[in-house]
Order: sequence, then C-alpha cells, then structure tokens
Amino acid sequence: MSAGTITVTRVTELSLTDLAAGTVVKPGDAEWDAARSFHSGVGEPTIIVRPSSVDDVRAAVRYAASERLDVMVRGGGHSAWGAVPGGVTLDLDALDDIRVDGALVHVGGGATWGAVAAALAEHGLAVSSGDTASVGVGGLTLGGGIGWMVRAWGLAADQLVGAQVVTASGDVLEANDASHSDLLWALRGGGGNFGVVTRFDFRAHPLTSVVFATLGVAGDARPVLRALRDTMIGAPRELTVTYMDVPAMDPSAPAGATITACWIGDDEDAARAALAPLVALDGVTETELGVRGYPDILMDMPAADPDQAMPGFVGGNTLLEVLTDDAIDRLAAFREANSASVLFLRSLGGAFGDVAQDATPFPARSATWFAMAGAFDIPGLVDDGNRPLIQAEWDAIEALGEALYGNFTTSTDPGLVSRIYSPEAIARLAEIKLRLDPQNLFCRNHNVTPA
Ligand SMILES: Cc1cc2nc3c(=O)[nH]c(=O)nc-3n(C[C@H](O)[C@H](O)[C@H](O)COP(=O)(O)OP(=O)(O)OC[C@H]3O[C@@H](n4cnc5c(N)ncnc54)[C@H](O)[C@@H]3O)c2cc1C
Repeated sequence: MSAGTITVTRVTELSLTDLAAGTVVKPGDAEWDAARSFHSGVGEPTIIVRPSSVDDVRAAVRYAASERLDVMVRGGGHSAWGAVPGGVTLDLDALDDIRVDGALVHVGGGATWGAVAAALAEHGLAVSSGDTASVGVGGLTLGGGIGWMVRAWGLAADQLVGAQVVTASGDVLEANDASHSDLLWALRGGGGNFGVVTRFDFRAHPLTSVVFATLGVAGDARPVLRALRDTMIGAPRELTVTYMDVPAMDPSAPAGATITACWIGDDEDAARAALAPLVALDGVTETELGVRGYPDILMDMPAADPDQAMPGFVGGNTLLEVLTDDAIDRLAAFREANSASVLFLRSLGGAFGDVAQDATPFPARSATWFAMAGAFDIPGLVDDGNRPLIQAEWDAIEALGEALYGNFTTSTDPGLVSRIYSPEAIARLAEIKLRLDPQNLFCRNHNVTPA
C-alpha cells in the first residue's frame, strides 16, 4: 500500500479562463490544424490545452472533469491514442525542462528522449530510453521503455525513482519510495492511467560513449536468428542487439535485414569480440562499428504526413521467455509470406530480468527476447480474404510468448489490457486507479478500469 494518503478533493467548476493566456486552442482557431497534428497523425479533439505550468495542468484537468471530457495527455505524440476523437488534448510540449542534480535527472512531462540524452551527455550521464530521439519521455516510460541499455540498466521505467503527478481531482502528488509509493509502482509500466506526470525523476548512469555496430544480413534469416539467440545467451550485459527486416520503404531505403548492436562503453575490441560469432556467419557483414556518443545513435523519425494515412498493421508483438527454433521458423516464415511486412526482434534478459515480477506492473520479466511482426495493410497486398489468415499466423506466434508490450502496438482495443498485464498487476492497478481516478478521466491509454 502507498505510504502516503491520497486525498481526493471535489472537482470544482472552473472555466478555461483559469488557464494562462494562449494555452487554449479551439476548432476554428488559426493554430487548430497545427495544434491537433501529433507525431503519428492528426487528432480530432474537442479542445486542445497547451499548459505552460503545473497550475495550468491542474486547471485543465479540473475543466475536463467538470465538462465530463476525457483527457488525452500528449507527451511526444508517438502513440495512436492521439487519434481517438473528442476530449481534451493536453499537450505537454512546453513542460520540457531537464534539470540534472548529481545522478538524478528531473525531466518535464513533455520532454523528448533526444533532448534528455543531449542534456545528460554534457554531464557524462545517460538514462536508457528507446531508439528514437523524438519519442516522448512520458509515453515510453509509463509503458516500460525498451532501449539500447535494457540489458545493462533495465527499462526506462526501472530508472524512474520519483514523479510529480496531477491527479484527476487536480491535486499534485509527489510519488517516490517514501510517499505515494503505490503510485510510483503504477507509473513504472502501468501507462498514463493515473494522472498527468508533470515531472519524471530518473536515476542516471555514468556513460561517456557507446560502441555502435550495424551488420548487414543476407539470405535465410533462420540460421542467423539462431546464432543471434545463442550469442546473446552468454553475452555480457553491456551488449544489447536488435534484428530488423524491412521491405523497401522508398528508393533511399531498400529492403533488407540488419543486426544493430550497442555496447555500453568505448571498448571496441570487446564489442567486436562479442559480435564475432555473428560476423563469421555466411551472409553477415560488418557495415559499421565505432565509438559514438549516446545522443548520436538515437534516430530521427520524421513526423507522419497529415495528408497521407498510415496503413494499418496485421500482426502484433510478444515477449518471449525463450526464442525457440519453432518461434524463429514461424517469424521467418511470416516475413517471407508477406512481402510488405516487418520483422523486429530485441534482446532482453540481463538487468531487465533482475527486477522482481511484482516490483513493477511490467509483464514477463523472464523474457529474453521481444519480437514484433506485421504486414502493412495495403490494398492489393493484404485483402479481406487473407487478413484473417495473416492474423492467425501471428496469433500462433504470440501464443508462444508471455505477454504483449503495450507501447509497441498501434491498437487501442481495450481487450489488450489483459494480454499486457498479469491478473495480479491488473487488480493492483485497478485499485490504485479507483483511488486516484474513479471517473476514469485518463482513459486514453491501455486503460485499466477503476475497480
Ligand atoms: C518511431 C517510434 C520509435 C519507437 N521506439 C521505441 C523504443 O525504442 N522503445 C520503446 O519501448 N518504445 C518505442 N516506441 C513506442 C513508444 O514507447 C510509444 O509509442 C509511446 O507511447 C510514445 O510515447 P509518447 O509520449 O511519444 O506518445 P504520446 O502519444 O504522447 O503518449 C502515449 C501515451 O502515454 C500517455 N502520456 C504521455 N506522456 C504522459 C505524461 N507526461 N503523463 C501522463 N500520461 C502521459 C498518453 O496519454 C498516451 O496514453 C516507438 C514508437 C515510435 C512511433
């Protein structure tokens, strides 16, 4: 149970005039179209609020509650939740302060990981994030956060030691090990269910550089994936790898498979030795290996073109305890059978698996691999007739895994919650939700209903 007492005050009727000037955008305003565009698409909210202070957030939350409007908190805007119509979009873009205090880093709820990595690099520090600079600290951390240091330091959520949260009642809570510890537990993977996180506190790790390597892969994926699995069984925790096989996206991005590796530290020889069994394989070639700054390895991903709808995705993801030969065969066959499909694997284990299952809501701490595959739902490539077949092939793969990783799905189906969290985690999350958000104001996420 929480060490602190959670006070739920009555929501008072507040008008939008309680907000600082310039923070509200309404349909018809000149800025409306720009304001409703988020990284992955275009939203149709009732109103957009762009708070510039915690007090603005409190006023906006109270306004939403009094008007009975759902709240969509926009951090980095990379999820699909921004496209759900109606409600108040609370765009935290201006709350992007990053303050370093020894090994602690305090990060505003609207900051992005690229900015955090750059700020920390100046202090010889880093927090394990994802692989993309523009992704929000908010959504990635609250859902878990699998990145390049996952085997050395765990999830982004595992590095979270405190948070400032504006709850559905408009109260401001400080959650840490000594106060509202239940809420801190819930924020380490339980999603945006519990309020607006206006500040994240992370424990950073010393890091000056990493060794970053890319290996090109040609030919049959199966022997390569088996060797990758076997290599990672004994690999030092400094090493985290991904495998990605993509179709041709455009003339500058041809189809192909790559292994990408990140080694914590600047020991090129150690990194090369760890990858040697892979480079020795037929069809695998080292295309890049060198020492880089952590901010430099984070990718830049252009925002979605508002005039071009993103195709759907038939497939899914799963956290696998063991990457069995059977799983490898099925994943490779899925990719081969669908020309416009992606196959993506990330190594886990190491520090990710050191965390006790009940220490956070994040599922499947025994997982050693994350796998994702999906066919782009493009007319002519995927049609009504073969969509169920492709999904059935994926479902058979997902059944081999322990759970689904909520951050890596574009589905907003409420049924996913029971595939993401264990029944024990759902029960505990639902109880915290009932205390903090009984009306389910914060439902634009993998929503745990208050119970
Ligand atoms: C290009 C790309 C690369 C990615 N790479 C990785 C990766 O390497 N590793 C990984 O684990 N995931 C990765 N993801 C998935 C990513 O973690 C999720 O899409 C995540 O939800 C994005 O967070 P966001 O803040 O950018 O998105 P948003 O859409 O802004 O938010 C996502 C969810 O979090 C809630 N939320 C956001 N901020 C707050 C806050 N401050 N307080 C309360 N609730 C909040 C939102 O309400 C919403 O429910 C990637 C996604 C994309 C599109």
